[in-house]
Amino acid sequence: MLIILDRDGVINEYDGNYICSADEWHPIPGSVEAVARLCNAGHRIAIATNQSGIARGYFGFDELDAMHEKLERLVEAQGGCIDFIAYCPHHPNDQCHCRKPLTGLLEQIRQHFHLDTLKGAIMVGDSRKDLEAGHAAGCQPVLVRTGNGQDTERHLDARPIPGVEVTIYDNLSKFADALLSAEGW
Ligand SMILES: [Mg+2]
Ligand SMILES: [Zn+2]
Repeated sequence: MLIILDRDGVINEYDGNYICSADEWHPIPGSVEAVARLCNAGHRIAIATNQSGIARGYFGFDELDAMHEKLERLVEAQGGCIDFIAYCPHHPNDQCHCRKPLTGLLEQIRQHFHLDTLKGAIMVGDSRKDLEAGHAAGCQPVLVRTGNGQDTERHLDARPIPGVEVTIYDNLSKFADALLSAEGW
């Protein structure tokens, strides 16, 4: 199965402040291991992440690359791998087609894997825009309670996404536990 992850608040700690360097990038406990466990069970892992800090001038492409190298090294040290990282470097006012809740990043991922559709894929996020993008692209949306997740859960209770049944887990590790045990691992 293809599993698409948001980055900030799903894989790494996120408190609402921009993460501008690899030194500021800290994995949520258990998340790197969860990615590796999913890989070892035969799943493919992609990331779809909004990084408007680039357009805002808070950090550059070199810093973003360094964050992603750190992430990939950590996952590889656990025996897993990240297949593809799609990011939106634009500002919300740039009217790009990739910034979630739009589906451009997911479209890049679909093309990378030469898929006709993302139906059957899962999109895991901590923000409403992740769930909306995932749903719009045909993925099954999953919410985690790390990062923005608890706020997102509260707002979803008040204002559900029409037609969307969102599954919720405490964190990425709990999501991996549930998926792998449902698959009989
Ligand atoms: Mg996030
Ligand atoms: Zn964009």
